[in-house]
Amino acid sequence: MNTTESILGKGSFSKGEIISLLSLQNRDEQIPLFRAGKLARNKYVGAKVHLRGIIEFSNYCTQDCIYCGIRKSNLSLERYRMSFEEILSTAKLIYNSEIKTVVLQSGEDPYYDCDFISKLIVKIKEEFNLAITLSLGEREYYEYEKWKSAGADRYLLKHETANPEIYSQIHNSGSLTERLEHLSYLDSLGFQIGSGNIIGLPGQTIEDIADDLILCSKYQLDMASFSPFIPSSDTPFSDVPKASLDLTLKTLAVARLILKYAHIPATTALATLDELGREKGINVGANVVMPSFTPVGVKTKYSIYDNKRCITEDASSCMPCLRARIESCDVEIDNGYGHSLYLNQ
Ligand code: SF4
Repeated sequence: MNTTESILGKGSFSKGEIISLLSLQNRDEQIPLFRAGKLARNKYVGAKVHLRGIIEFSNYCTQDCIYCGIRKSNLSLERYRMSFEEILSTAKLIYNSEIKTVVLQSGEDPYYDCDFISKLIVKIKEEFNLAITLSLGEREYYEYEKWKSAGADRYLLKHETANPEIYSQIHNSGSLTERLEHLSYLDSLGFQIGSGNIIGLPGQTIEDIADDLILCSKYQLDMASFSPFIPSSDTPFSDVPKASLDLTLKTLAVARLILKYAHIPATTALATLDELGREKGINVGANVVMPSFTPVGVKTKYSIYDNKRCITEDASSCMPCLRARIESCDVEIDNGYGHSLYLNQ
């Protein structure tokens, strides 16, 4: 048995073993890792993929994250905000597409105050009974409480990097410690919580990515996302090379082996990195795909990074293609809510 196979045969990994798996260069050695990720997905969460419909309802942001195309300093970006009714009618499209989760995502935009989001949550639950995931960045603790009481189910807040120095370099405010405190508070309120990293940040090492995975394992994450860095032309990182596809896939496979029951997406960024990125992500252990239902008129303006895939088509014309692509990966599309699998353990 070679080293890779003996590591893969273990139930848990040391940091050194995680680094070994993430460092596999040889395709022949990577294949057993990818196969193990896929088998673990089938074992722990089933040979199934959940769909989550995203509505990116505002590209205004008070933050200035250095890699992000919608950062407040990007003055060349045309900004948009969707109204309550527009968001609601987009949620209806998600419901009509037989998708049971809506992800409400925006920059950190206080224009949408606590009351607005609370009323939106109540209305979406009343009208469509969708599971609701919020991805609104760091907000006030009382707002998280109100939104949980209003009926929100999940909150996504990526830690982005477990390296506190890189975290400080890419953010204009806040610290990794504060970000993790928000995550813990959301968890304490009963949200199903999601976090994750960005792969390929300048200065990031394989050790840092191993730390990201270890950090994720310390929280009982219901959702964990590992997405490749792709540069945005209107940011200070415009010349930073995009992340490696291989490293992203290795991270996804190791994440599945470590996090077992977490919902792990094959991200749109992965599909942007590679024409078949989504399929490759599913084939190494991912079990979630998140199509954007943001209206075509504004979708191109939610430009966190360049050349994002599927942004010129509306979601209804994308869905048949997306479903066929998913089903080509030996998995079924699960039409349930796809709530936390830890709830059933
Ligand atoms: S990453 Fe998020 S918080 Fe940072 S600038 Fe972009 S939208 Fe705003």
